[in-house]
Amino acid sequence: MEFSSKLLEKAVHEMAQLPGIGKRTALRLVLHLLRQPAQQTSFLAEALVGMRENIRFCKSCHNISDTEVCEICANGSRDQGVVCVVEDVRDVMAIENTRQFRGIYHVLGGKISPIDGIGPSQLTIAPLVDKVKSGSVRELIFALSSTMEGDTTNFFIYKQIKESGITVSTIARGIAVGDELEYADEVTLGRSILQRIPFENALKNN
Ligand SMILES: [Zn+2]
Repeated sequence: MEFSSKLLEKAVHEMAQLPGIGKRTALRLVLHLLRQPAQQTSFLAEALVGMRENIRFCKSCHNISDTEVCEICANGSRDQGVVCVVEDVRDVMAIENTRQFRGIYHVLGGKISPIDGIGPSQLTIAPLVDKVKSGSVRELIFALSSTMEGDTTNFFIYKQIKESGITVSTIARGIAVGDELEYADEVTLGRSILQRIPFENALKNN
C-alpha cells in the first residue's frame, strides 16, 4: 500500500494491529475518522488511553474493575461462598445478564493452551486454589467453554482442590460443545447455571 502521507500510514499501521482488522479496513476506518469532526477522534483516543492507564483488576476475583474490589465482590447480598470460574470479563457480563447467579466469580484470564503458549502460571489459578484452601468457598462452578482447553483447565484446577471436599460443579451443557458463553442466549445460559451438575459426573461422560 502506497501512502501519500506518513501520518496516514502510521495511523493505518496502528489500526491494523487490532485483531480482524486488515490494512484495507484500517484505511477505511482512518478515512472515516478524518471525515468526522476532530473531536470524535479525541474522544476515541482519550477513551482508549484512559482505559489502558487506569483500568484495574479486582484483587479478589480478577475481573476488570474501576476499583480495588469490583462491585460484584463488594456486594453484600452476593453469596461469597459460591464461586463461578470463568475465562474472562465477557463471561461475567454474559452470566450477569441472565440475572440467575447470586454468587461471585473468579476470572482466570484465559484457558490453559499449550499451542498458544499459555500455561497455568499465566492464569489466576494459584489465587483461586488459595481461596479454596482458605475455607471461604462452599461451591466452585466451572463455566469455561466446553473446548479441549476448557476441559484441560477445569481438570487442572479440580486436581488441586478436590481434597478440600467442597462441592465442584459444572454448568449444564444446554450449550453446544465449543460454543463460547458470550454467544449463548440468556435463557439457555441462565438455565444451565441453575441446573449445574456435579463435576465428577461431567468427567464420567467424557
Ligand atoms: Zn471482584
